Amino acid sequence: LRVRPLTCTETRRGDRQVVHSLGDGAVHVSAARHDATFGFSAVFDASASQEAVFEGSGMRQLVELAMDGFSCTVFAFGQTGSGKTYTLMGPLTQSETEPASPALLGLMQRSFTCLLEQSRSRGSDVALSASYLEIYNEQVRDLLSPGPPCALPLRWSKTRGFYVENQLRVEFESLEAIVSLLLQGSQRRRTSAHALNRHSSRSHALLTIHIRRRAVSAHPAPGGGWGASACPSKQGTLCFVDLAGSERVKETGSSGELSVEANSINRSLLALGESWGTHHGSPAGPHQSPVASFVAHPPAGHCISLLAKPRGKRAHIPFRDSKLTRLLARSLGGSGITLMVACISPSSRCLSETLSTLHYASRARRVTTRP
Ligand code: ADP
Ligand code: MG
Repeated sequence: LRVRPLTCTETRRGDRQVVHSLGDGAVHVSAARHDATFGFSAVFDASASQEAVFEGSGMRQLVELAMDGFSCTVFAFGQTGSGKTYTLMGPLTQSETEPASPALLGLMQRSFTCLLEQSRSRGSDVALSASYLEIYNEQVRDLLSPGPPCALPLRWSKTRGFYVENQLRVEFESLEAIVSLLLQGSQRRRTSAHALNRHSSRSHALLTIHIRRRAVSAHPAPGGGWGASACPSKQGTLCFVDLAGSERVKETGSSGELSVEANSINRSLLALGESWGTHHGSPAGPHQSPVASFVAHPPAGHCISLLAKPRGKRAHIPFRDSKLTRLLARSLGGSGITLMVACISPSSRCLSETLSTLHYASRARRVTTRP
């Protein structure tokens, strides 16, 4: 759990700080009618540096596991403005020519450094490549391919599981190269954010590093020379997910008749609330109530809720129900290893979103998967 500092604006308008870290992984929320304590594997408060978050969150171990061939995923979730992008990438620089201070670099850049160090120390048999996608309105777009963003089809095959057809994978060997891919992709995301109001807070961004390790054979390849491809290769992945803001999207229409359960899931960390009712090809059209469309199309958050149930009581996990959950099926339910970073604001004005993120994060903690 990461609690960001109050921003200047929040301080200026006199917001109160309602979240306090108690140490030992506990946080306390106290406000007029709320008084609750939550526990997490680690809590980073306003004073925690980016480096402390990297070292204290298990991110370094996750990089090592990816190098060993596991599917590893890091999610940042929380309402818009809670510090997801800051935690993953650091503060966005005003211009591309002025790089962020090294101390402020986020989990992504620190992981890249760590990954490249490890790849060097393990010899030259490691091939690294990256893909960068965003999911907006249930459309998958490539953030690395040049030209205007176009939707790519999501397919499934026995051998590969779910995959995005024609997505670009760019090989890289240096920190500069991968950081520049990250900036290019984020720039693309931001550019369309200007065109479409609040686009980026409603889209999920997924940067995946593919790690292919070739076991170099000691025998000459059939065609002469020393073959590297003859041996089976191990492939690990490291995926960084900057989730859409978890706040309830106002455009869902009526609110009075929402049941508490649908409401809280709708507000939840993984809610894909941007497209309720209208964009799923639902015959009921825009007048359909959010509750009904939730039942028809549970958001990713629903998968977490189901995974959090005791194993025997779990129904079928509806990974197929959204593009995000399909793409993350492996890390959410398979043999993947996942680090979830919940981000919250300490401000009194964000109290209800903060509580919903805290409840959700506590629930997500109970998820364990097995191959
Ligand atoms: P999100 O991606 O969740 O919408 P941002 O990462 O863009 O939120 O953060 C919102 C604002 O708060 C930004 O101006 C960011 O620089 C600032 N901020 C977030 N986390 C921190 C932090 N830990 N320390 C200092 N500033 C932060
Ligand atoms: Mg963001």
